[in-house]
Amino acid sequence: MDLDFSLGTPASDPKPTPDSGTVRETIIIGSGPAGLAAALYAARANLKPLVITGNEIGGQIGTTSEVENYPGFTGDTGPELVDVFQAQADRFGAETTIDFIEKVDLSQRPFKLSGSSDYYARTLIVATGASHRKLNIPGEEKFAGRGVSYCATCDGFFFTDKEIVMVGGGDSALEEAIFLTRFAKKVTVIHRRDELRAGHTLEKRARSNEKIEFIWDTVVTEIKGDDLVHSIELKNVKTGETSTLKTDGVFIAIGHIPNSNIFKGQLDIDEQGYLESDKFLRTNVEGVWAAGEITDSYFRQAITSAGMGAAAAIDVERWLSEQEESAAETVAAVA
Ligand code: NAP
Repeated sequence: MDLDFSLGTPASDPKPTPDSGTVRETIIIGSGPAGLAAALYAARANLKPLVITGNEIGGQIGTTSEVENYPGFTGDTGPELVDVFQAQADRFGAETTIDFIEKVDLSQRPFKLSGSSDYYARTLIVATGASHRKLNIPGEEKFAGRGVSYCATCDGFFFTDKEIVMVGGGDSALEEAIFLTRFAKKVTVIHRRDELRAGHTLEKRARSNEKIEFIWDTVVTEIKGDDLVHSIELKNVKTGETSTLKTDGVFIAIGHIPNSNIFKGQLDIDEQGYLESDKFLRTNVEGVWAAGEITDSYFRQAITSAGMGAAAAIDVERWLSEQEESAAETVAAVA
């Protein structure tokens, strides 16, 4: 057993930072449903968790327009649900800091996390979730925030009475397209196949919405404009035919990519980029758990992520207790 680990002293010489010298029992990276549920459970277990939120609090649910399927939640929007999560975790002593972790060192004990500060923790719950997948076409980056958006809830209002497109054929694309019809004059859904990936309920709602039109078997190859977006270039993937479509805005909802880059080479990652974990949500590195969409490519719901966050925190508490008992037995045996 590594006794230094239970003593919890930083192995290297940390720079003076707000968290300098503090070794947390547990740090949670990510503040979506998984991270905030983990924070609640860890706080109630008196582990005084620190949640490092990422660039903003809430993860994907923080940008979701309507939440109708979170049991017990009677509010309307994702941000409201995030507020409830955070208030509940805060009440039991969870701390939250807005920072973006750029590097982790899981080879040393305690683990070292580096963002704008350095942080040290005996255990780590990774709840970094997933980010919007990008089209990676000319104009996408240039017009981001000037007509290109990945968040209907955040930006829909700016397109009042405009004609816009939604790229994607999944549940997110249709849900957001329907939401955007509250503002836009017309929403054209552009999908690369002739069949939607979205479920029947959303498909039915979208097809019966008179402001929504579909363009099938088509990909967007370029986004054009001056200061703002004015048009997109399209290509029919079956016929090869190209065309130009005038539009004021391009919303993109083509899935997500797990935020696992900083763990490459340290944690086991599957071919799609998700962290591998066992039924206790433990990763291949002892003392590191993964919860929520970072390790779940299948369910990807706020409720399932929150459940995983709670489960990970319960297991963290049990594991820390075992470590302490085992360290005490070792000390007793030596004495
Ligand atoms: P998704 O189900 O993975 O769908 C992504 C869509 O984008 C697919 O239609 C895909 O086309 C298309 N796509 C992917 N890469 C593309 C590219 N490079 N160019 C053009 N199109 C591309 O992602 P999602 O819609 O974000 O949903 C994620 C999960 O959340 C799903 O499990 C979903 O059921 C769930 N969700 C549920 C609700 C709800 O129940 N209200 C709402 C939102 C999300 P192909 O179909 O050809 O692959």
